[in-house]
Amino acid sequence: MTMTTTLDDGITDVPHWLMPVGGSEIESASSQWHDVIAPSQPGKVLARVPAGTVEDVDAAVRAARDAQREWAAAHFTVRQKALLAIASDIEAESERLAVLTAQDTGNAIRTQARPEVATLISLFRYFGGVAGEFKGAVLPAGDDQLQYTRIEPLGVVGAILPWNSPLMIAGMKIPAALAAGNGLVVKPADEAPLTVLKLAEIARRHLPSGLLNVVTGSGREVGQAIVDHPGIHKVSFTGSTSVGRDVAASAGRRFAHVSLELGGKNPNIIFRSAATPARIEATVAGVLLAMRFTRQGQSCTAGSRLFVHRSVLEPVLERLVDAARQLVVGDPLDEKTDMGSIINQRQYDTIREYIEDGRQQPGVRVMLDGLDHAVDGEPGLYQGPTVFAGVDNSWRIAREEIFGPVLVVIPFDDADEVIRMANDSHYGLAAYIWSADLDEAVSTAHRLEAGWVQVNQGGGQVVGQSYGGYKESGIGREFSIEGAIAAFSQTKQVNIRLST
Ligand code: NDP
Repeated sequence: MTMTTTLDDGITDVPHWLMPVGGSEIESASSQWHDVIAPSQPGKVLARVPAGTVEDVDAAVRAARDAQREWAAAHFTVRQKALLAIASDIEAESERLAVLTAQDTGNAIRTQARPEVATLISLFRYFGGVAGEFKGAVLPAGDDQLQYTRIEPLGVVGAILPWNSPLMIAGMKIPAALAAGNGLVVKPADEAPLTVLKLAEIARRHLPSGLLNVVTGSGREVGQAIVDHPGIHKVSFTGSTSVGRDVAASAGRRFAHVSLELGGKNPNIIFRSAATPARIEATVAGVLLAMRFTRQGQSCTAGSRLFVHRSVLEPVLERLVDAARQLVVGDPLDEKTDMGSIINQRQYDTIREYIEDGRQQPGVRVMLDGLDHAVDGEPGLYQGPTVFAGVDNSWRIAREEIFGPVLVVIPFDDADEVIRMANDSHYGLAAYIWSADLDEAVSTAHRLEAGWVQVNQGGGQVVGQSYGGYKESGIGREFSIEGAIAAFSQTKQVNIRLST
């Protein structure tokens, strides 16, 4: 729900969104607002959202807990029906959500925003479908005993989201937590909160009052309040490794459950057999997809370290640069656009700083600098695909997550060498292997230290699969039913002596 108010600064025509807390849509207890800036139009205030406080978090937690008990006590088909109804309502409003995603995040409508909404719908359907699978087992303990387990919800889940694809990541947490019988307090990123508020508005039509709450506001205040609140039984965090480390430490102090989906610097490995004349085009197209250029590289699963067998390095580079050059960079709402805008000036400056650092390295080959793609006359923060060759795996641009459209290319000579380089990272989220040799592909997949490996394809997560990181890319799995059972529920054992 939105309202328009006249504020001291004279801005009256900007919609002011309220946040759903308890049974109502409210302003912040502080009466302060946060400006949401459209990434593709820096300086333009798209909307204002409440600058939430510790008090707002407390009200949201209490409401979620009150509503959650009845929700958890119901037959699973009640939860199933609600999740399926939410999916249908999102579908009916999918174009509105896609446009809002493009405005709020800068992600292009055709290549990113619509697919993100489609994934969200699938996730509500998936968790609606498997709502009855949060079930226990009966032990064959003899005729005089009934010994069984119940899979019970945790209580209230605090879900903290990043800005890069907020709807999809909300979809990884909200339907799973609800299907398990939990209530929620969701905190979207300050940079991109609008789609999450819209999603909550739709979802709440089908949920008990107060079960699903959203508190907008800064990570330092609202995020930290969620992590520290004794009524939050589980913190489900997606964001950077540095913030995730602090979140885990704070939640750990009070033994709250935690799952962390963090950063990545993911290897993309092209073996010789994937770059034959018959396969090279498909391999290069898949690498572009895996690199998530169409999300401006602002993806934790971006395959941003490209290892290419030395014997096929030059033909791969030639085709890769040609194909990357074809990507249309510009207005996220334009149907022709492949790549939209970087989220904000700070992120844009960070990306440019990494590019300048890469340019300074001895022996580097700048194959493509996305500044060539600068969009004339457009005010957005546009950085097109950027490709560095001649890179060493020890350089900063090869080790740190840039979270921008920067691909580094590193040659290799044999499988042992490339696996050693690929695993030489504190991250371990995703990996991509391109090979026509089944033994080579599978043995490499098994030896890579990554939570998710794809062979000869580079697309995004599909419902039902396992998803999560090794090493500093995170803890826990939430995407699959097995992951959701582990992440959003707890097991109770009941042993009963029967009179026989
Ligand atoms: P941040 O870690 O900066 O922020 C993530 C969320 O945490 C935001 O809502 C932020 O609030 C909040 N936050 C900040 N400080 C605290 C705190 N002290 N306590 C609790 N919450 C806090 O990440 P970004 O939003 O910049 O997202 C980019 C990062 O997310 C990248 O590193 C990327 O790899 C990772 N990511 C991981 C994914 C995965 O599935 N593994 C998927 C997508 C992104 P606010 O910003 O509003 O102040």
